[in-house]
Amino acid sequence: MVRSLSQWTKTLSFPARISPNKSSKESVNIHQVSPTISPTLSSTSLAKNNEINAVMNNNNNHASLSEVNQIYSDPESEKAIMSSVVYCIHHKEGCKWSDELRKLKGHLNTCKHDAIPCTSKCGAQIPRVLMEDHLKYTCPQRRTRCEFCNKEFTGHSLENHLGNCGHEPLYCENKCGVKVARRHLSHHKATDCVKRLIGCRYCGGEFVADTLPAHHAKCGRVPVHCPKCDISIIAREELETHLKDECTVSVHSCSFKEAGCRFKGPRFALEKHLDESSQQHLSLMCGVVSKQQHQIASLKSALSRLSLNYSGTLIWKISDFAAKMAEAKSKEGMELVSPPFYTSQYGYKLQASLFPNGNGAGEDTHISVYIKILPGEYDALLRWPFAHSVSFTLFDQSTCPEKACNIVESFIPDPTWKNFQRPSREPDSLGFGFPKFVSHEMLKKRHFMKDDTMFIRVKVDPSKIVAV
Ligand SMILES: [Zn+2]
Ligand SMILES: [Zn+2]
Ligand SMILES: [Zn+2]
Ligand SMILES: [Zn+2]
Ligand SMILES: [Zn+2]
Ligand SMILES: [Zn+2]
Ligand SMILES: [Zn+2]
Repeated sequence: MVRSLSQWTKTLSFPARISPNKSSKESVNIHQVSPTISPTLSSTSLAKNNEINAVMNNNNNHASLSEVNQIYSDPESEKAIMSSVVYCIHHKEGCKWSDELRKLKGHLNTCKHDAIPCTSKCGAQIPRVLMEDHLKYTCPQRRTRCEFCNKEFTGHSLENHLGNCGHEPLYCENKCGVKVARRHLSHHKATDCVKRLIGCRYCGGEFVADTLPAHHAKCGRVPVHCPKCDISIIAREELETHLKDECTVSVHSCSFKEAGCRFKGPRFALEKHLDESSQQHLSLMCGVVSKQQHQIASLKSALSRLSLNYSGTLIWKISDFAAKMAEAKSKEGMELVSPPFYTSQYGYKLQASLFPNGNGAGEDTHISVYIKILPGEYDALLRWPFAHSVSFTLFDQSTCPEKACNIVESFIPDPTWKNFQRPSREPDSLGFGFPKFVSHEMLKKRHFMKDDTMFIRVKVDPSKIVAV
């Protein structure tokens, strides 16, 4: 490359302080030499100076000032110019050289800041100081090796090679975390990569390779052996239907198994069995029904035992009394009986009875109440005769409890009276109580009847009721 004149004339400068021509001028201006060699020359103005350029170009690098002088042959001026002291044109880059202008050319031959063509002929102009680095690291003509394949390249061809080197390790784009040489990458992605997509060969669905075993474990289309007949290979999702409807070995129990039928067999045999065994199944079902009836009965009795009253006090609610009274008037000896109750958990079993239209001395005028002793579970352990006082209370259902006035009658059993002896399994229907408990007139007063309902409390004195 040929340096143009402008490259160095631009940086040409004169140190004012060390100028020898102080008498004439403070500094020598290059304009005095030639208006064409100016620090501010533009390339267009330079173009006018073809003659100078030609000289410079012929001289390859540095302009020969003597040749310039040949053009401007004023020997006096030339001498003055050439003697003027100047800085090196690379002063700003750090060159400290300073001397007469005539010696500049010689200096530039050795100035380490002066740019010279790259010695490897890459065409670049490189300052001498940077040449070593350039040759080593940046020159396109430098010899270097690819760090991956270790092949030798010029700097220029290495740039093209990088990005294509087959040995360069790259991360797999599927993010499997594996680094593979570029030349093996497509093989890796096609055959090894755990994150590649693979089709399930049974259902055809696409799955990431490392999830495929988990998919196979539940894929409905994976063929499995029937565990019964072992010869059929069926898609997993169809196994259930096979076992239920198709498998010739799979054994089914008769649907009347719970009723006692012991039959077991394959599907077709079961259907035949069901057709042929209606009579047998029906009688089995009858057995089930009667067994259940017994169970229901025993449950009922257990339930009634649970709901029994063991407190020794019965509050007896008698509702729809008007209808019961009407029935009693038309039907002699009509008696209402209370739910049985116990005097304590292991005590006497008692029952109250009520004649709405009276009984004995109270017939047609009074309601009569009685207490009966029923055969109980613990009679064998109890004291006989029954000796506890019993009271009957008819409640006044006044809304104001302070004004309520209940009717109470009570008695202490006469031990000689046979009703208080231990009852037999077939108890005497007679009880003990009050034939004239409350008159029919009294019943209409106060609030003994409310909403056609009366409440009678039967209370047994708890003292001395002790099981043996
Ligand atoms: Zn220099
Ligand atoms: Zn170079
Ligand atoms: Zn390489
Ligand atoms: Zn991968
Ligand atoms: Zn599948
Ligand atoms: Zn099967
Ligand atoms: Zn059966």
